[in-house]
Amino acid sequence: MTTVLTPQVLVVGAGSAGVAAAVAAAESGAETLLVEATGHVGGTLANQLLEHSAGFHDAAGNQVTGGTGQRIVSLLQQYGGSPGHIPDDVAYTATRTPVNHAELSMCEAILLRRAGVTLMLDTAVVAVSTVDSVVSEVAVETAGVGRTVIRPGIVVDCSGDAVVFGLAGAALQTDRPGRTQPLSLTLKLGAVDFGPLLDYARSHPGDFRAGSHIGQPSDDHVNLWGFGALLAAGHADGRLSWRRTELHLAGWPTRGEAVLNVTRTVSGYLVLAEQVMQTVDWFRRYVPGGTNAYLAAVADRVGVRESRRILGLTTLTQEDVLGGRRSPESIGTGAFPIDVHDADAPGLSHTDGLRAAYDIPYGVLVARDFTNLLAGGRCVSSTHEANGSARITATCFTTGEAAGTAAALATLGGFDTHELEVGKLQAALRARGVIGARA
Ligand SMILES: Cc1cc2nc3c(=O)[nH]c(=O)nc-3n(C[C@H](O)[C@H](O)[C@H](O)COP(=O)(O)OP(=O)(O)OC[C@H]3O[C@@H](n4cnc5c(N)ncnc54)[C@H](O)[C@@H]3O)c2cc1C
Repeated sequence: MTTVLTPQVLVVGAGSAGVAAAVAAAESGAETLLVEATGHVGGTLANQLLEHSAGFHDAAGNQVTGGTGQRIVSLLQQYGGSPGHIPDDVAYTATRTPVNHAELSMCEAILLRRAGVTLMLDTAVVAVSTVDSVVSEVAVETAGVGRTVIRPGIVVDCSGDAVVFGLAGAALQTDRPGRTQPLSLTLKLGAVDFGPLLDYARSHPGDFRAGSHIGQPSDDHVNLWGFGALLAAGHADGRLSWRRTELHLAGWPTRGEAVLNVTRTVSGYLVLAEQVMQTVDWFRRYVPGGTNAYLAAVADRVGVRESRRILGLTTLTQEDVLGGRRSPESIGTGAFPIDVHDADAPGLSHTDGLRAAYDIPYGVLVARDFTNLLAGGRCVSSTHEANGSARITATCFTTGEAAGTAAALATLGGFDTHELEVGKLQAALRARGVIGARA
């Protein structure tokens, strides 16, 4: 017989947005079920080995992300899994927030447990039923267990790919059919000798991003963006089959660990796997300090920068983001540069730094055509350009937290997501420490 569950709030996806959404919904008093397709929490930030969490501060150094995102960082700091927000060596942003990936995942699990969230791992959403403008049932499959039917009060889609919206037939953005950002497979090297590596960077300033602060081997964390000459040499001798003019290296020198973001394609895993091995070979041969480096870990799956984005009651645009636009319906703020990678260009194709933070209106979370469906994280209602900023993890914590809090308020108050009084949501978010939730 099929099991049927009836949580007040169902959160789909346990990445940055989903963890924040589930913690917020449960702490707001709603029975909350979180389903996650993989066997672990943390999503892209934890399991795809991102260089660092980014977007917590604006260009002037004012904090723009608080709430559950900050609580996760603080807990991680208590356990020694993060130094917290530190200045960004390459001055791309004011701060960056390095995280130990495994410890991040564990700390997020601790917060979920403390909040009273029910978690189903290895459980993927496979079908959605709707009645008029309501998502009535969500079917999930748990590996080795089978199917469960969930009849939720409100669904918060934090799958990154807007899975529930897609299966429900909800409206999606159509501004870039088939032309989203390219895919990457991030890799972590061990046994990197940072002495020679940092000496090389210091003696080749023209090969690294202007403004780079080159750290010391005794530093806990370093951030380097460059290596263009060495990449060109690897490309010229045929060791690197794709062309990049720069790579991003986030290192933990005292541990000899370096995360490299350099692979890039639109073709998928098999191409990326070869690029990973070519990178390891290139690093050993060309990068000073790289002779003994080995592949310590690879992202648990292909990193998707952009896929489906929902069509909400409001859509965040490039003008909103670049203009630092205010909204009376603000549920939080974002301030990360518009960071758009182009599959056809060897560098970053489009980067716009922001002078001021922008407000994120409640409407970007709300399904236009359903009254119990919200989104948080990478798939919120945004144009391709605006998504280049809103997809960053600090902002995903914020939109997830707002969607989870809104879901709890709606289901406990007996109204739908379109009827929710945004002033009440803003007050609840401010009480949770969210920055910028105000009229
Ligand atoms: C290569 C790369 C480098 C990046 N670098 C940085 C960086 O340095 N700093 C930074 O802050 N951001 C970076 N980003 C952007 C950022 O990582 C993502 O946009 C962000 O993590 C998305 O968070 P999310 O919570 O929306 O989704 P995710 O963290 O992707 O979480 C979605 C979760 O939903 C689950 N899921 C999906 N489908 C289903 C289903 N059917 N049923 C159940 N669960 C499902 C997934 O398994 C996953 O755990 C990078 C992205 C990429 C791809």
